[in-house]
Amino acid sequence: MMTDLYGLARAELGATLSRAGFADVHAGRVWGYLYRGFERDFGAMRELPPRLIDWLRENATLCELGVARETAADDGLTTKSLLALSDGREIEAVRMQIGERTTACLSSQVGCALGCVFCATGQMGFERNLTAGEIVAQALHVARAARANGSRLRNVVVMGMGEPLLNYDAVMTALDVLRDPAGLAIGFKQITVSTVGVAPGIVRMADEGRPYSLAVSLHAADQTERAALLPVARTWPLDVLLDACRYYAAKTGRRIFFEWTVIAGRNDALEQADELATLLAGLPAHVNLIPLNATTGFDGAAGEAAALDAFQARLRAHGLPATVRRTRGEQIAAACGQLAV
Ligand code: SF4
Repeated sequence: MMTDLYGLARAELGATLSRAGFADVHAGRVWGYLYRGFERDFGAMRELPPRLIDWLRENATLCELGVARETAADDGLTTKSLLALSDGREIEAVRMQIGERTTACLSSQVGCALGCVFCATGQMGFERNLTAGEIVAQALHVARAARANGSRLRNVVVMGMGEPLLNYDAVMTALDVLRDPAGLAIGFKQITVSTVGVAPGIVRMADEGRPYSLAVSLHAADQTERAALLPVARTWPLDVLLDACRYYAAKTGRRIFFEWTVIAGRNDALEQADELATLLAGLPAHVNLIPLNATTGFDGAAGEAAALDAFQARLRAHGLPATVRRTRGEQIAAACGQLAV
């Protein structure tokens, strides 16, 4: 069976090559070609022994994503790519460039099972989990484009299609690949895992010592209202979710980002800002306010700019740091539910 090398963390690549009789120094070279050189052609890996090149040709593949469509915004600094998987399904990845720093927003699943009411991906339903290699290949797609533009992939947000913590193993393996210091070397802090509130996944990341930046989509500070927007809140109610967040913050020492998609007349009242501040009291937290991105399947409108500003001011008055995400790129990087094929 062919092994997709993009799906192997550094240690796994070493073990795989060692089983085939190659020294770890060769695995290190292969790694450098893949993640420093972005090389896709085994034959061009000239520093490898010919026997290893032959072995790679016979036993290994590199996940290939076809570009079905690419749309640019923000004067070409933000691109959304529709990428085709080998089974013909499609996912989205986003590249956001700010000078020398580029951020990639990656998908973790094809579609999503969680059905948050305002989310275009949720309206598609769930098709399948992505493999670790398919997640890494998205990052490399962005990293190559960044390099061609004189920039470098520095930040990754797993906020595209899907719920990353419901595809835990593949996502964590992919992030191990992206973090590796001999490759893309993207640090824990520069990687954001965005969840709609899969509490057991948050606890597991804390227990496994994975201090990623964690973004939790909250959108409501009241269990009933939250469950109406995010059906998954019935499985992991607010109190369970907040316990998991406190545990994560305590174990990792990280501040948690709470995402609040602002829907006019639904969650933009100042009393709701008070409720939110009470809910997050004592947690190292930062709130991102994101105007709703209209989707065809949900009849709600984005919060007005004045209401967003007032909401933000109210949170700050409670001592809770809050930011309003205004540009398209910022919004894409601020919450899942903004992307759909
Ligand atoms: S908002 Fe996120 S978790 Fe909810 S349905 Fe959309 S992709 Fe899934």
